[in-house]
Amino acid sequence: MKELLLEMEQYAKEKNVPIIEKESIAYIMKYIKANNVKNILEIGSAIGYSAILMASASRDVKVTTIERDEIRYMEALKNIKRCGLDKEINVVFQDALDVNLTGVSYDLIFIDAAKGQYKKFFEKFQYFLAPGGVIVTDNLKFHGYVGKKEKIESKNLRGIVEKIEMYIDFLKENEEFDTEFIDVGDGISFSKRKNENK
Ligand code: SAM
Repeated sequence: MKELLLEMEQYAKEKNVPIIEKESIAYIMKYIKANNVKNILEIGSAIGYSAILMASASRDVKVTTIERDEIRYMEALKNIKRCGLDKEINVVFQDALDVNLTGVSYDLIFIDAAKGQYKKFFEKFQYFLAPGGVIVTDNLKFHGYVGKKEKIESKNLRGIVEKIEMYIDFLKENEEFDTEFIDVGDGISFSKRKNENK
């Protein structure tokens, strides 16, 4: 498994596939273990790297992960099979905003897909959070650009950073959720429903 993870890191580097930073996934895995997380929904599988690590964090963890890019989806399927986690991880090949979920709930929902759609993902998937569950979002620092918009020349990049900043404000102002911002890796947040005792 260690070897496969190294191979995946190498593949991601060569093919420019963004995968989670080591410190961030280590933090999430610690949370999974400490909080007895069993059912996880991930938005944005890429090649399956974070799904594999989350599924192996603790016993009985099940992950459903959604990916809209066919090449990455196929690669994720292959990697998941290679480490024998195909019973634990279900990869859905679809745009997350089109996925129809019914009668399911998750202890942890991990948002790690198109940055410009973070708010839409949160608004859609919050209804599938189990009592006591958490919505985790990655890349809130966006490689150090968040908070430094005026220094960015590329219009495209500035647009993404603006959307992330808007998302951060949305989390801070959200009356239903309390959000903790953690300064590890590229910046992650943990949002939990207010007034809920686990
Ligand atoms: N979670 C992965 C990891 O750490 O190993 C990395 C995910 S990568 C940052 C984001 C992925 O989300 C990309 O592979 C992209 O194709 C996918 N994506 C972006 N928007 C999406 C959407 N609306 N629905 C499904 N997948 C999406």
